[in-house]
Amino acid sequence: MHSFETARMAASKLISNRRRELHWLKARPAAPAQAVERTPGESPVEDLGKIVACARCESYVTTSAARIAMDGRHEHRFVNPHGLLFRIGCFSAAAGCLPVGEISTFWSWFPGFAWQVDLCGSCGEHLGWLFSNPSNTFHGLIIEKIIELDEDG
Ligand SMILES: [Zn+2]
Repeated sequence: MHSFETARMAASKLISNRRRELHWLKARPAAPAQAVERTPGESPVEDLGKIVACARCESYVTTSAARIAMDGRHEHRFVNPHGLLFRIGCFSAAAGCLPVGEISTFWSWFPGFAWQVDLCGSCGEHLGWLFSNPSNTFHGLIIEKIIELDEDG
């Protein structure tokens, strides 16, 4: 009986400690949302075009002004080795992308270019691929994974 009582008291003490801990966790201020900094004065506003953002988290990826044509077209359709169809758009730069993993030349959609997986730098969503060769680099972003945002929206 005595040992049962001790155990019960110990348990209730544990619970109260846990409650205090939870309270402390809730009391902490939330981490500030990561704001996308635009570099002021680098290029005229009219050259930036619309913001191209991650469709999942709406973080800045690049701008519509960075669109380029590769082999004569901006948009390309490709099938990967697993038979999945991708529609990608080519961009000269995508500062919001995080290239990860190994650089590969296997099944490269652009002959002469190696590729690397491009993730959203904010949420980690797979946004496309970084293609590179010794003289050129561009991003092929999956059309369904990116959205255009209005500047004032
Ligand atoms: Zn994202």
